Order: sequence, then structure tokens, then C-alpha cells
Amino acid sequence: ADPLMAEAAGRIIIRLTDAGHEAYWVGGCIRDELLGRPVHDMDITTSAKPESVMSLFPRCVPTGLQHGTVTVLEDDLPFEVTTYRTESGYADHRRPETVTFVMEVKEDLRRRDFTINAICLGLDGRLIDPFGGAEDLRRRLIRCVGKAEDRFDEDALRMLRCIRFASTLGFGVAKNTWRGLLRRRDGLAHIAVERVYAELTRIVEGPRPLTGLAMLARSGLLARGKAPFPWTGEDLAAAATGLTGIGELGSALLRWALLLHALGATADAADGLMRAWTFPGATRRGVAQVLRVREAWTAAAAEAGPGDGPADFRRRFLAAVLAFGAEAAEGWLALLAAMPGGGPGAGLVPSARRWLDEMPVRGLADLAVTGGDLASALDRRPGPWLGELLQALLLAAASGVLPNDRTALINEAKRMNHHEQ
Ligand code: ATP
Ligand code: MG
Repeated sequence: ADPLMAEAAGRIIIRLTDAGHEAYWVGGCIRDELLGRPVHDMDITTSAKPESVMSLFPRCVPTGLQHGTVTVLEDDLPFEVTTYRTESGYADHRRPETVTFVMEVKEDLRRRDFTINAICLGLDGRLIDPFGGAEDLRRRLIRCVGKAEDRFDEDALRMLRCIRFASTLGFGVAKNTWRGLLRRRDGLAHIAVERVYAELTRIVEGPRPLTGLAMLARSGLLARGKAPFPWTGEDLAAAATGLTGIGELGSALLRWALLLHALGATADAADGLMRAWTFPGATRRGVAQVLRVREAWTAAAAEAGPGDGPADFRRRFLAAVLAFGAEAAEGWLALLAAMPGGGPGAGLVPSARRWLDEMPVRGLADLAVTGGDLASALDRRPGPWLGELLQALLLAAASGVLPNDRTALINEAKRMNHHEQ
């Protein structure tokens, strides 16, 4: 871990223990440190009540007082300092409404989700690890603290966290934990879509998305959530055969596009689903545009016979680039490259890439004339005709039929206008 962060956290722990309290590093930072992974933040657990924490550290923010959490600033770094607590009264399989402060660190560790997340480290360098978390780290296993059914009953989100940790860390899941998950999977219906989405993105955008998706498929979890997921675990497992390249895609947007493509979603269906799943608008729109390029591409590729040359295919591809954007077209070509066997029309990809790279204009903004130029050159009132004319000129300039040159474009506009009248 970053030595400055560790030192700052250490100073907080020293001040707490000097004041007669117990205090430890806890949770994700210990797990990641023992695994030799980067530690992004350090949480502290303490016997001190929130009021004591606040009086010992003037620079603090009461971020979650009702849960016993105070954010302490040390060296301008934020640390969550949380009082030992248990949780009870899990209404509706969600987070508890009541927390009770307790005196024993072991009681605090008992409320945590997995053994690997239930380890403390003291100033003396000794681990407090009552549930065998260090051993599970060595065995690379996700295991619930206590009885899995009960823990998933309390908070159904833990089932997704289980799959998220297993896939991001490359761990297995202990037998009893997995059995408990299968028995309690219907509980996911109680969890807010945003929280499910937050775990799902970490699975899909993490280092082993395929592993995570395979576990999601075997668990059948997604179909049981609040958000619509119109596929079964078997559908997802079948789609996974087309997803072997998903982990190599660097962009989160393209991973989602590949997944929705492999599931057979239309662009409009994907858009609706992502809206319901609370995706950020930019990701949702970007994925939908990639899938629209796909629709144009597959239709054109299906008709591009080997003999008739790719001229017609090229025209249709460039039209799709102009309609849905060069970025979406680039995205679609990257997806094809990630598909087993190169995807539909794989043989056309090298040409398409070249056409795209060579396109002299990629949108109306690049065109050497504006609608205003055309209206005054033709001495006509702007109207629907203008948009159509601009699109025709754009396609001609984009495909190299016409130079992207003001005079040439206006002459062509006059010619077309003359024909029309
Ligand atoms: P990361 O921050 O990398 O996701 P983390 O382990 O720090 O990993 P957080 O969600 O930040 O995960 O939670 C901090 C700690 O709080 C966890 O290590 C775990 O001990 C506990 N915890 C978090 N969420 C839950 C939950 N839903 N049920 C029980 N314990 C939880
Ligand atoms: Mg954390």
C-alpha cells in the first residue's frame, strides 16, 4: 500500500489507542494488501463511539453517523472510521435499519460479508482473523462469514458481491456459499436497481468478465432482479460462447455492446434495457449506436455476394457511418475483431477499416458547405428538401464521389435541384 496512506491511517489508529480505545485497519485494505494488490483506500474500525472519534479529530465529516461512520481527514486523505457494530432488522433483504454499537471487534467482523473481508490488522502487525480469512485468501475462496443462507437473506446484494469478488480476484466460491446463493437467489428482487448495476459494472468492466458472466449464468441471478433481464441463465451461458474476446476489449462501452449483441438484443431493446438498469446516458446511447451500425452492417453483409464486388457494401457502410457516427462504426469493427471467427462479414473488415480511415468527411460538420450556403446559392427557402440535399452531398463527399470543395458541392446541388424541378 501507499506508505503515506498507511502512515496517515497509522496516526489515526495511534491517536485512538492513546485515548484508550481499540482501533484497527479492516476490510478491503487488508485483503488487498495480503494479496499484494493495490490498496485504494483504508478503512478503520474502532471501539470508540462516533462522538469520541469526532472530538479526537477536529478535521472530520460525519458521513454516516447513523451507521457509526465518521470520515477523518489526515494529511488531506479521507479515512472512514467506523465504530464496532452489529446490524439487525434487515427489512426486505436489504441493508439493516438498526445498528447496535458493540464492544468486541470480533462482533464487528461477524457482520461482514465474506471471510476475506473480515480481517483486522493492529498496530503491532498482528492480524485478527477469527473466521479464517487469511486461509481463504491462500486457498483463493470466497466464503460467507457464518451461514450463507442467513447472510444472503439479510442482504441479497451480497450474492452479487460474491460473484464480483470471485471474478475480479479470480477466486472460487466455497461450496456452502454457492449452495446458499442458489437457494436465496430470489431475494435479489428486493435490491435497488442502482446497487445491482454498480456490482454488475464491476463484473463486466473488471479483469475477468467472462468468469463473472459464467457465474451469473449459472446462478440465474439477473433474471431475478428488479430490472428487466429478458434472458435465462441458459441464454446467458449460450451467449458466452460469443464473448470469449470480451476481456480484451479495453472500453467498458464496447464490452456492454458485445454482451448485448451476443444476447441478440436489437439496438432499441438494448437502449430500453440500459435505461431501466440506470446506465449513464452516454454509455447507453453509445452502445445503441454501435448496435445500429451492426444492424446496417449485417444486412449489407448478407447481401454482399462474393461476385458483385463490395461497391454497394461500401456505400451502405459509409451511409451507416454517417448516420450513426464514426465512433460507433469504429466500435463495431472492434467488436467484430473480438468475435470468435471474426463475426458476420468478417472478410469485409479490412476494407471497411480502410474506407473508414480514408473517409474525407465523417459528418455534416466536416462538409465544406452549410445549409445556409445551399439555400442562398439555390435561392430557395429552407425546408425539408435542405436536409435531404445535405445528406446526399454528405454521402457523395464521404465516399469520394465529389471532392469536399465548396464550389463542387454547390454545383452538384444546383444540378440535383434542377433535376428535381
Ligand atoms: P472494494 O472497495 O474494493 O469494493 P471493500 O472490501 O473495501 O472492497 P466496500 O464495499 O468498500 O468493499 O466495503 C468495505 C467493507 O465493509 C468490506 O470489506 C466488508 O467487510 C464490509 N461490507 C461491505 N458491504 C457489505 C455488505 N453488503 N454486507 C456485509 N459487509 C459488507
Ligand atoms: Mg472499499
